[in-house]
Amino acid sequence: AKASGRNTHRFFAEAMNAEAVAHLSIRGGLRRALERGEFLIHYQPQVNLDSGMVFGAEALIRWNHPERGMIPPGAFIPIAEDSGLIVPIGDWVLREACRQAAQWQAAGLPLTVAVNLSARQLQRPDLARTVTDALTDSGLDPLFLELELTESMLIQNTDAVLENIRRVKALGVQLSIDDFGTGYSNLSYIGRLAVDKLKIDRSFIMDLCRNHDSARITAAVIQMAHSLNLTAVAEGVEDAETLEQLRQLRCDVAQGYFLGRPGPAEAVERAARQANPF
Ligand code: C2E
Ligand code: CA
Ligand code: CA
Ligand code: CA
Repeated sequence: AKASGRNTHRFFAEAMNAEAVAHLSIRGGLRRALERGEFLIHYQPQVNLDSGMVFGAEALIRWNHPERGMIPPGAFIPIAEDSGLIVPIGDWVLREACRQAAQWQAAGLPLTVAVNLSARQLQRPDLARTVTDALTDSGLDPLFLELELTESMLIQNTDAVLENIRRVKALGVQLSIDDFGTGYSNLSYIGRLAVDKLKIDRSFIMDLCRNHDSARITAAVIQMAHSLNLTAVAEGVEDAETLEQLRQLRCDVAQGYFLGRPGPAEAVERAARQANPF
């Protein structure tokens, strides 16, 4: 028993070590990745459920690692957040997404681009400046930029965070609350902050057609959004049945694999040029 305990311990230590090493190599790689241009953005279409038209896309970062291939954000964004590198990386995403959206406008496609912000960015006193610079340098009309915040970022609603939200909103950009329904918030902030959209978390949408609780929660969030004059967005729509149910619930916008996977900007462009794809 003792020997096996020791083995377990050694195994555990080695596993920890492997994880720590992977963590360190990612951390070291992130700065180089930024300098060498190894990041790219995939865009996932967002569809207006009244018209069936693609009206915008969410920008989702990818890391095209020279040895490991495409690394999803879940494997490096948390490390970038811990190390603070999320600030320059997030700045790059913002600039690149604004540049892409401005290019869409120039090509006659008035598409909105949605960019994820991390807590660190929301706490920085220069956030409004950063957003202003990205808009000015790209020439993008602020109306076509949307910033996604999560509920959990608003729990620590310090003066700095509230001031940042007020200032970016004053620039004319749109704000949405991402992963809505997972953040244990007391909801009182929604009326006070000038947000435009609620993105209902994928966990509710995924089993909307099979789980009564998910269906009731989704219906309630859509109603609440509408009574506050907000747009209700469903993310994680994977099949036609779910899309139909969301239409019946009067949800405004949908996003998910059924409507389009994240991919190169050209794929969103093609979908946006179709008369009535959905
Ligand atoms: P998120 O903001 O909730 O983004 C939606 C995630 O759901 C994306 O994963 C997307 O590919 C995935 N998804 C979309 N439709 C479906 C569907 O129908 N079914 C399923 N199962 N999944 C779907 P992704 O691209 O791996 O991104 C994961 C998370 O990484 C994002 O979650 C976001 O929190 C973070 N992230 C991505 N890009 C950025 C960024 O530029 N900055 C920051 N701070 N975070 C980012
Ligand atoms: Ca998001
Ligand atoms: Ca989300
Ligand atoms: Ca509607």
